[in-house]
Amino acid sequence: MATVSLTIDGMAVKVPQGTTILEAAKKIKIEIPALCYDKNLDIVSACRLCLVEIEGMPKLMTSCSTPVSEGMVVFTESEKVIEVRRTILQLLLDNHPNDCLTCQKAGQCLLQKYSFKYDVQFRDHNGARRGQEYASWTDTSSPYVFRDESKCILCGKCVRTCAEVETRNVLTFADRGFETTIAADGDQSMEESTCVSCNRCVVACPVGALMDGRTVGMPRVWETTSKTVKCKQCDFGCNMSVFYKNNKVVGVRAKDAAMGRPLCLKGRLRTELEYKSMPAAPFVKVETPEGRRFVETTWVEALELDNILDKIENK
Ligand code: SF4
Ligand code: SF4
Ligand code: SF4
Repeated sequence: MATVSLTIDGMAVKVPQGTTILEAAKKIKIEIPALCYDKNLDIVSACRLCLVEIEGMPKLMTSCSTPVSEGMVVFTESEKVIEVRRTILQLLLDNHPNDCLTCQKAGQCLLQKYSFKYDVQFRDHNGARRGQEYASWTDTSSPYVFRDESKCILCGKCVRTCAEVETRNVLTFADRGFETTIAADGDQSMEESTCVSCNRCVVACPVGALMDGRTVGMPRVWETTSKTVKCKQCDFGCNMSVFYKNNKVVGVRAKDAAMGRPLCLKGRLRTELEYKSMPAAPFVKVETPEGRRFVETTWVEALELDNILDKIENK
């Protein structure tokens, strides 16, 4: 494949034709901030945070969607770029609950990370803020996916990642303008919806709007160490993160929602049972006359081990 040579922040780099500026920068360890980008998902250039300056071009360009060209000279941290990034981050923070002190996502949140990097802070203002207007947007009906819509920055990564697995496609954008939300099956709670608790959306969410319900309340991420393990439930071998504090496992989460690796609840629970000494009881979603409901269940039922147990017992 033909290669292209360019310069990013004064560093020369050679990449295959068709590579985007953002991916070319990554190759030389330059991180261009982005909230809606994921290399496994369709590119939507929605957050605009990845704008860069290109010599000879009148406008800033989104580096997630602009392919490199021969001899291109790119600046990822010019004065003009930083000014625009700070404005975008300020607009996001102005519409966001000032919750970093207690938010479970703190330490892993991209909005927090970039706001710190570009010195953008929460500020008082009289305008509406999603969290104030719509406190009822918190949905804890699922023991596996906690939603706090007030923290959603509408990057759409959850919608795109859920749709990657054809049979799921649970999440969509709903309403318009300031009232835009992420909805499950139109307008249902996570419990009522057809969500299968695979947690692909949780992995994709860059902020604390979607959290793994079973690790809410886990020690802060900077108090823990983690290791990546392969799920042994099926041949996909999805990556899971196992978190430790004082040599004790304190949580297990799905790690990657990469293409071809669907993630699933059973695999995550299996990994939790394998690593955690006293895991909390699992739940399954069942159909009832009132609709879908989560009910507590046994590990044998959750992991569908009845057949294996029967064989062992009857041997
Ligand atoms: S989602 Fe991020 S920015 Fe928002 S409160 Fe949580 S840590 Fe802070
Ligand atoms: S947990 Fe899985 S099925 Fe449920 S909304 Fe998220 S991505 Fe979709
Ligand atoms: S819930 Fe998270 S991933 Fe989904 S749109 Fe909001 S911020 Fe993005």
